[in-house]
Amino acid sequence: MTIAAESVTEGISFGLTEEQELLRDELRRFAEERIAPGVAERDREHRFPADVVAELGELGLLGTLIPEAYGGAGMDVLSYVVAVEEIARVCPSVAVTLSVTNSVCCWPIVAFGSEELKRRILPELAGGALGGFGLTEPGSGSDAGALATSAVRDGDSWVLNGEKAWITNAGVAKYFVVMARTEPEAGKRGISAFVVPADAPGLTIGKSEEKLGLRASVTAPLILEDCRVGGDNQLGELGNGFKMALATLDHSRLGIAAQALGVHQRALDLAVAYAQERVQFGVPIARHQAIQFKLAEMATSLAAARVLTRCAALAEGGPDGGRLASEAKVFASEAANRACYESLQIHGGNGFSDEYEISRLYRDVRVLTIYEGTSEMQRLVISRHLLR
Ligand SMILES: Cc1cc2nc3c(=O)[nH]c(=O)nc-3n(C[C@H](O)[C@H](O)[C@H](O)COP(=O)(O)OP(=O)(O)OC[C@H]3O[C@@H](n4cnc5c(N)ncnc54)[C@H](O)[C@@H]3O)c2cc1C
Repeated sequence: MTIAAESVTEGISFGLTEEQELLRDELRRFAEERIAPGVAERDREHRFPADVVAELGELGLLGTLIPEAYGGAGMDVLSYVVAVEEIARVCPSVAVTLSVTNSVCCWPIVAFGSEELKRRILPELAGGALGGFGLTEPGSGSDAGALATSAVRDGDSWVLNGEKAWITNAGVAKYFVVMARTEPEAGKRGISAFVVPADAPGLTIGKSEEKLGLRASVTAPLILEDCRVGGDNQLGELGNGFKMALATLDHSRLGIAAQALGVHQRALDLAVAYAQERVQFGVPIARHQAIQFKLAEMATSLAAARVLTRCAALAEGGPDGGRLASEAKVFASEAANRACYESLQIHGGNGFSDEYEISRLYRDVRVLTIYEGTSEMQRLVISRHLLR
């Protein structure tokens, strides 16, 4: 059952420039015309929408943060955040495919790659190739510094061994930024970063995860067995991989906050439409104050999350950037989870049916407080900034 739900707060631009508003409007049209059709079927069939993602690539949306000199769109971070929100509003699975490529693959290569590496790889990513990020392992999630994958120098190459777990875009990406241990005894300072092509000898993709949500996105393990990459695929300085991973996550959390905004907006829009349509006790349920208060709460927390996320995007790279990104991520993702819960509640029994979009959003939203650092880890990051 598709509810024609107009966006109830779309007139408010929250400090966007005219150009950014234009981008938002164009992407909203694109998302509704090209991404929305078939979204429920793709979720049901766990089907990755390769055609839709290819179109995003043609529009330059997979290389938004890559400078024009390397073929990218050279967008500012706030525009990127606006783009992710608009896509997530229609399909969170496509939004995560896009944000992972931009934020955790393209971004660290732009920030830390040698000129040669950037010239060799970025044009392909800017042209529509997908990217991934391999930090998590079966034995190390929140405690990423404990990772066990090793990288050993052999002549001109690096040889990687280990397993990366829960890797978004594994199976569809062309390049992965992978963290591996180059000095076994050096703790977090013994970790380095590498760009691993999907066709590198010794790299295989494990079985795709059967997920609660984001079922039209691909998530699978990366298995590295004597996986050989060229010495020139090392990213940044040797031993600096953990620092680079943290810097990357400081940036990429803005993309997760933006995903949360898109899902939150849609959950609110659906709730407003349903509450005006559904009649109980002789009146639309929207006339009951208990329902009105839920809608008011959802709208208020959305406005707060949006302002905080956009503020964090503007502060990126500055002294408060990392803390604000964590604050935006934890606030927006938890607010979006609450909004989906209340929107489903407003839908009553119908909300529990696959026929209604809110049931998919309720599943999709759950991971936002988990990946790219759980809510607990965000609170640790924020408090570390405060107590430094
Ligand atoms: C759909 C999906 C896509 C993903 N994509 C990627 C990807 O592309 N690349 C990648 O590298 N990873 C990816 N991940 C992994 C994700 O980043 C991790 O799941 C996440 O960091 C949490 O790690 P964990 O699952 O091992 O949980 P754990 O670290 O085992 O945590 C379990 C629980 O303990 C809590 N906890 C742990 N330590 C502390 C502490 N010190 N204080 C308080 N509480 C604590 C956590 O907050 C959590 O609630 C993805 C995960 C999912 C589900």
